Amino acid sequence: NAFIAKVQSAKVLNAFLVETPDHAIAAADAADAAKAAGETLKPLAGVPIGMKDLFCTKDVPATAASLILEGFSPTYESTVSGKLFAAGAGMLGKLNMDQFAMGSSNETSAFGNVISPWRRNDGGNAALAPGGSSGGSSAAISARLCPAATGTDTGGSIRQPAAFTGISGIKPTYGRCSRWGVVAFSSSLDQAGPMARDVRDCAIMLEAMTGFDPKDATSLDLPVPQWEAGLSADLKGKTIGIPKQYRVDNMPPEIEALWQQGIQWARDAGAEIIEVSLPHTKYALPAYYIIAPAEASSNLARYDGVRYGLRDLPEGANLQDMYAATRAAGFGSEVKRRIMIGTYVLSAGFYDAYFTQASKVRTLIARDFEQAFEKCDLLLTPTAPSAAFALGEKQADPIAMYLNDVFTVPASLAGLPAMSVPGGLDAQGLPLGLQIIGRPLDEQGVLNAGL
Ligand code: GLN
Repeated sequence: NAFIAKVQSAKVLNAFLVETPDHAIAAADAADAAKAAGETLKPLAGVPIGMKDLFCTKDVPATAASLILEGFSPTYESTVSGKLFAAGAGMLGKLNMDQFAMGSSNETSAFGNVISPWRRNDGGNAALAPGGSSGGSSAAISARLCPAATGTDTGGSIRQPAAFTGISGIKPTYGRCSRWGVVAFSSSLDQAGPMARDVRDCAIMLEAMTGFDPKDATSLDLPVPQWEAGLSADLKGKTIGIPKQYRVDNMPPEIEALWQQGIQWARDAGAEIIEVSLPHTKYALPAYYIIAPAEASSNLARYDGVRYGLRDLPEGANLQDMYAATRAAGFGSEVKRRIMIGTYVLSAGFYDAYFTQASKVRTLIARDFEQAFEKCDLLLTPTAPSAAFALGEKQADPIAMYLNDVFTVPASLAGLPAMSVPGGLDAQGLPLGLQIIGRPLDEQGVLNAGL
């Protein structure tokens, strides 16, 4: 009840698109009943979580923060939300996000941006971006509206918002969490994962979310590790690599200082620190902004006014007109930009020059990581090249917005587990995040280093 009241009193943040207090109450009641009956409690018994609106939950509207899905209420449950509920969690509501998970600031939502609960300590009161695309999740957790939430990460959408709001979030290895029932953005990159106040809560959430699902062809058929039980902050015997190419031009001094602090913490925990090279890093961002829009343009073809949500049928219109009118009215401008980039890089004349090249770069990036992991167990980098920026600051300049993903995108292209954990505050009192990247399937190593 305390969380439900908080959600209702914090509407100014615009973090929730739909509130489902009854769902949370039912889970809490079930937990109380189980306790009274002396049963062993489920791992998330009664825990009220937030659900990013990219997850379909049965009979609750799902919009992916786009007008084109207005009125769509799934008749099915995504595998991940179903697993969380089976583990005892209740849902406080559906969380705002960047439209179709495209964005780094939450400003592409059709329902207004989320506002970060953080403020700079310079006396000004500029409203800050909560990061994106899982910005409803990050704002809700950091404002203590819910203890944990789901996120999805295609190129950084769990890690960057976690960094901007001083919380933790992990993107597991590609294939760990089923994509079934999660609105698709870029299918070869999309991964669900938890966001929470600390590493332990992320481990508990991740355990509940993970597992093989025959309904997702890329789901990994592996047992679910006991990550929470395996947590250990001791890094003795571990080697942590510092990728030199992440020291980008014009890196702000506070980000450099954050990185040094992280290195010191890792040393104090017993790790050996070495420098490693990931030579193709500078091609990751351009490759990502070809591959992700290409896949998005294909995935978003299904929103045609026939099957889901919005239908715009002008007087006397034929089918083509209806498609055009529905898509023109339903998609936001960033989504349209991605569809145009995507169809261009996939078009007959440019496919080889863009999409094939980007796919090759992706292989090279994955190989860079493989080679680095011959010398070290984990990589440590900043999560983002800056602290949270002000809302509106980068909105007019998509390239500036895309550049904010420079540190998160490489691990996505390689499908590696990666986590952001709080690394302290900058001079303006804003949180900064440290990123830990691990070998495929080494979520345990990543979580331990974050602890
Ligand atoms: N900011 C990146 C983008 O706009 C990442 C988004 C995501 O991970 N969903 O594509």
